[in-house]
Amino acid sequence: MRILVIEDEPALLEQLATRLRADGYAVDTAATAEDGEYLGLEYPIDAAIVDLGLPDRPGLSVIETWRANQKAFPVLILTARGRWEDKVAGLELGADDYLVKPFHHEELLARLRALLRRAAGFSQSRIQCGPISIDLGAKSVAVADRELELTALEFNVLEVLMLRAGNVLSKSELTEHLYEDDNERDSNVLEVIIGRLRKKLDPSRELNPIETIRGQGYRLRLPRVRDDA
Ligand code: CA
Repeated sequence: MRILVIEDEPALLEQLATRLRADGYAVDTAATAEDGEYLGLEYPIDAAIVDLGLPDRPGLSVIETWRANQKAFPVLILTARGRWEDKVAGLELGADDYLVKPFHHEELLARLRALLRRAAGFSQSRIQCGPISIDLGAKSVAVADRELELTALEFNVLEVLMLRAGNVLSKSELTEHLYEDDNERDSNVLEVIIGRLRKKLDPSRELNPIETIRGQGYRLRLPRVRDDA
């Protein structure tokens, strides 16, 4: 999943990016409203974290621009303590959640995961498609009751496929959600990862969970089991 962080305090921006990358996210960063707004409009962002106090323009105006341009990805806003008017204004403009500084990184990660799940239409941290289930919080995967060992990249690819089960994802879309750096993008790597996932998920080749759609990309074929409990 690809996360945009807009924050003008260099130390905090660096900490957030490092923590998010350690958790397996691809991260784009911006220190101004101008740069961040552009990235959110032009890049395939899955969620954004936006500081409201930015040097050039209020963070609120960035969210306003995105929503006016039909950008519907979830937005978590960061506000200074005591600025309750900002929170209300942010939520009214289409932000999805907020955190007051200073915050614990664990809380930010938990809120972010909840936003990503809700954006994909799931209310639980466990997602199930046919016999495959993944836990976004624990980062564990099981087929029927067999637990699998996946690498971080394998997990990331499976996560994106499962969140959009039934939809065809192009190779470039899949790699865009995995890497923030153009130089790292390589569809050969993606093919290797898909091959390894197929072997691990379906060693006896009965399930065929990941379809190749010729000339288009990949699709997780198994229906999503919705758990609205
Ligand atoms: Ca600030």
